[in-house]
Order: sequence, then structure tokens, then C-alpha cells
Amino acid sequence: MPVYRDAGFELYSAEIAAEAFRNETDPARVPSYYIYSRYRNPTVVAAEEEVMKLEGTKWALLTQSGMSAVDTAITIFQDGKNNRPWLFFSEIYGGTLSYAESILKKRRGLDIHSFAPINERYDLGEFESVMKALRPQLVYLEIISNPMLVVPDATGIFRIAKKYRSRIIVDNTFATPYLWKPVEHGADIVIHSATKYLAGHGNFTGGVLCGNDSALMKSAIEYRKYIGHMLSADDAYRLHSQIQTFKLRFERQCRNAAQVAGLLKRSKLIRKVWYPGLNDHPSHKEALGLFRDKGFGGIVTFDFAGKTGSGKRKRRDKFIKAVSDKIKLRPTLGDPHTILLPVEAVWREKYPEPGMIRLSAGFEETEELLATIMKALGSLE
Ligand code: PLP
Repeated sequence: MPVYRDAGFELYSAEIAAEAFRNETDPARVPSYYIYSRYRNPTVVAAEEEVMKLEGTKWALLTQSGMSAVDTAITIFQDGKNNRPWLFFSEIYGGTLSYAESILKKRRGLDIHSFAPINERYDLGEFESVMKALRPQLVYLEIISNPMLVVPDATGIFRIAKKYRSRIIVDNTFATPYLWKPVEHGADIVIHSATKYLAGHGNFTGGVLCGNDSALMKSAIEYRKYIGHMLSADDAYRLHSQIQTFKLRFERQCRNAAQVAGLLKRSKLIRKVWYPGLNDHPSHKEALGLFRDKGFGGIVTFDFAGKTGSGKRKRRDKFIKAVSDKIKLRPTLGDPHTILLPVEAVWREKYPEPGMIRLSAGFEETEELLATIMKALGSLE
């Protein structure tokens, strides 16, 4: 797989240059001539084809971060005249919520609304009433949310969104196409922080948006080019290699997460475990409906028991120290090794429980991982 590091590509003659630039104003997925790496690059196109295979889409476009994929996917629906509102589900990545608030609402003056779950479940009846009243142009959601792992009844949500002629953007970073492929079920655009499971080694920052609608692809190619959201050829090369093992890695991560969830559930030191595969998870039914027997993702969230906030915090901190040789505190997810994040330290008032931890299962040996956690819990008793 060659890495084309060239900034500009040889165009041979004025005639060819004219044709190349003419074609670029109405871009095909694969250009007839590559012009300049910020526009398009052959190594990037090759890596995009790997994502297309996974998500089952007609096109995919790589960007230099998950956030630039979010920005591209959303901005192409902004046409300067649009005055219909946009609806964001409230349980989505915090960076996307801040982007919606600071960039879309405050800087661009767009009419942004939020749809929240009730008792950690999105209610379809409630969604229908909001859609009826608001009639948004765009609906934005995630298939497994962060950090409470809420799973919407996405097929029901899509049906209602289509009834009100809304376009649908799905961030599929946590569920991945291994569990569910939103475009096959009617989403207009799927985005990923490829930094996470697609690249999967904690050594890459990138994003991707994909879909089937070629008009949206053309707008996204244009926006990526003008804003400069393009991924580098070197990063595309690394993604192209690392994505080959995506299914193997994610399968193991789902299995490890399920085992960890079961182990934590049996401990009297833990007040509550959130994992979509558990029978008592608030949206277990929705997760079963979408994922069937494939798995329930690689993230587990749990809360330490304790009579007081400071008691819970102490247990959390002791646990973090006790596992720290094997399980590091790292603010990302989908890495080879299991990593964790104290929820309150990151989300503050949104999730203020001082004993809460979000754990991203790695693809290490299951027995070794369970032994590390068991030993750490044992040291807290
Ligand atoms: N979407 C989700 C669900 C995420 O978790 C993240 C990052 O954590 C992003 C998007 C943004 O991706 P990136 O950090 O690659 O820009």
C-alpha cells in the first residue's frame, strides 16, 4: 500500500490541469486526476474504501479528527437560508454538545434543540411529540452513549424522523459497524471518531463520515477541501493497516467488557453497573433489538458503593491506584489495553457521582484482566 506524501501531483499539461480542476468542481468519489493532497489523496482514498466495506456505504471521507468529521457532517446541511431547527440527542459526546452550543448556536446563530432521555431511556412517544412540534431539518444521535451507555430504539427513531422529513446523522463510534450499521437502516450520514475502535491502538487521531447519498458526498468533499479537514497520507496508511484487525479486536473488547460487567455486578463494593448487555440496564431491550447476539460494546460504567460522597471517592481512588500497573487512567477509549476514566472528574455537574468510573475494555487476555480487577477489589475490602 503506497504512501503518497506529495503535496501536489504532477498534471503533465495545461490541458490536463484544466480537466482536473474542472472535474474537482463536481467531484466523483475517486478523482480522475489527483491535484493537491488537501483536496484528495490516493492513500486516503484507499483507507476510505476500508471504512466503506465495514459500514456498507457507497462513500466514506476521512478527516483529521472525529470532531472535524462531526463538523463536516453537520455543516453540509447549513445552506445560508435554512431556518429549520436542528435536534441533538442530549446523551452524546460532550465535545459534540459543546460544539453545538459554542459554534452552532453562539457563533453561527443556528436554532439548536436538545432531546433528553427519561430515566435513561429515550421515549418514542416523547420523541414523536417533539418532532411534531419542532419539525427539525436534522436529528443527531449516538447508538451507544457516553458514559451512561444509553441505546436508543434507533429503528423507531429513524421511522419517526423520516415521517417529519428530517435528515439523520449518527455517531457510531461506540457501537461500531460490528454491532449495527445505521446507513443500512436509513441514516443519511454516519460519523466515527476513528481515533477509537477503527484505528484501535491509541496512536492515531482521525475521523470519518460515510453514507450513500452522492449529493451529500459532493458537499462534504467541497467542505473538507475548503476548511482543510483532510487526513494526512501517513495517518491514512496507518488506519488502512490497523483497520484490518478491527473485527478481531472489537469482538474481544465486547467479550472482555461483558465479563468485567459480570464481575463488577457480583461485588458488594459496587453500587451499580451500567452495561447494555445486563438485563437490568435501562435500555437493555433497545440494545437487544439492535445488536441481537453480537455483543454490547466495549465500555462499562460503574459506581462504587459508600455511605458518603467522600467514602465513595476514596474507594474510587484506591481502586484506580490498585489497578494502575495494568489499567491506566487515560482520557480516550478503544485502546489495546483496558483503560479507565473517573466520570465526575471529567463531566462534573452532568454526572456528579464521586464513585463513578468509565472503563474501556482492551483486547488483552480475559483471565488476566479479570484477575487484575478482582485483586484490586479484594484490596478495598
Ligand atoms: N464522537 C465520540 C462518541 C467520541 O467519543 C469522540 C471523542 O472522544 C469524538 C466523537 C471526537 O473524536 P476525536 O477526539 O477523534 O476528535
